[in-house]
Amino acid sequence: MDYVDHVIDLVGNTPLVRLNTLAEGLRPLVLAKVEYFNPGGSVKDRIALRMVEAAEASGELRPGGTIVEPTSGNTGIGLAMVAQRKGYRCVFVCPDKVSEDKRNVLAAYGAEVVVCPTAVPPDHPESYYSVSDRLAREIEGGWKPNQYANEQNPQSHYHSTGPEIWRQTEGKVTHFVAGVGTGGTISGTGRYLKEVSGGRVRVVGADPEGSVYSGGGGRPYLVEGVGEDFWPATYDRDIADEIIAVSDGESFNTTRRLAKEEGLLVGGSCGMAVAAALRLAQRCDADDVIVVLLPDGGRGYLGKVFNDAWMSSYGFLSPDSTGATVGDVL
Ligand code: PMP
Repeated sequence: MDYVDHVIDLVGNTPLVRLNTLAEGLRPLVLAKVEYFNPGGSVKDRIALRMVEAAEASGELRPGGTIVEPTSGNTGIGLAMVAQRKGYRCVFVCPDKVSEDKRNVLAAYGAEVVVCPTAVPPDHPESYYSVSDRLAREIEGGWKPNQYANEQNPQSHYHSTGPEIWRQTEGKVTHFVAGVGTGGTISGTGRYLKEVSGGRVRVVGADPEGSVYSGGGGRPYLVEGVGEDFWPATYDRDIADEIIAVSDGESFNTTRRLAKEEGLLVGGSCGMAVAAALRLAQRCDADDVIVVLLPDGGRGYLGKVFNDAWMSSYGFLSPDSTGATVGDVL
């Protein structure tokens, strides 16, 4: 019989899918590593599993312990899924700007969600950073993974994402493109690919305009999960050969094209990474192979990126990305 013991055994080994229409007229082969095939729906399943298993091994997380993390999204889903398998309690702390839908997803996995005010500075006792620190201290057996400083975040990519891409491309990958949030994906995957190829693979980061990685001062942007206003410990500055800044409008319009023209319903940071990969592809040769990582699926963004009214309220709607009309029954 062909089965796995638990859904967490399906983390990783995501497929590479060729981009066709979007890469039309470009010389290199452009392949998307589609991370929504992970059981929790995003690349973050990889780091959740490795951070938890390393904390078990080091004794930081003991049987019956509680995982406390300030997260509202993909990392929370990954941690909640792993915690369910291993019998840990999960408490997630998120700011009140996070949609009820997102909080409900975490609760559905059995996690407890604590909501904090958004409009307070990070050092305020009610900020979600302060509250998560306090809960991790006060709860008996509490452990905070801290994805922004946990070395197991880049390590998970060094040991899984990188080797998978090398194997799947039979060592032919020449460029790796990924968006940068904590920096775990690009640092771990990029380091592995550089080592295994003897420095041949070029690593390119994609970043929202305004974020620190592309030289910005932390100006706000709308694409979620990427860009920072500080330099996290999980980002290794020696890995990326180049950072390409992408505007919100281009990120979202590329995201919509991925759904409509490639059948890939993915999140806004995927469109950002693909926009950077396509810009890079214009300067590449016919024997180059570009792998671009798509972190999550698009279901969580239907009210934003895929909503014409939301897009046009920011002036992002372009004629070639207008959604299909949901009309009356004839
Ligand atoms: N896209 C999305 C949707 C994410 O949630 C994240 C993680 N913050 C990223 C991209 C960036 O990945 P990383 O943190 O590994 O840099």
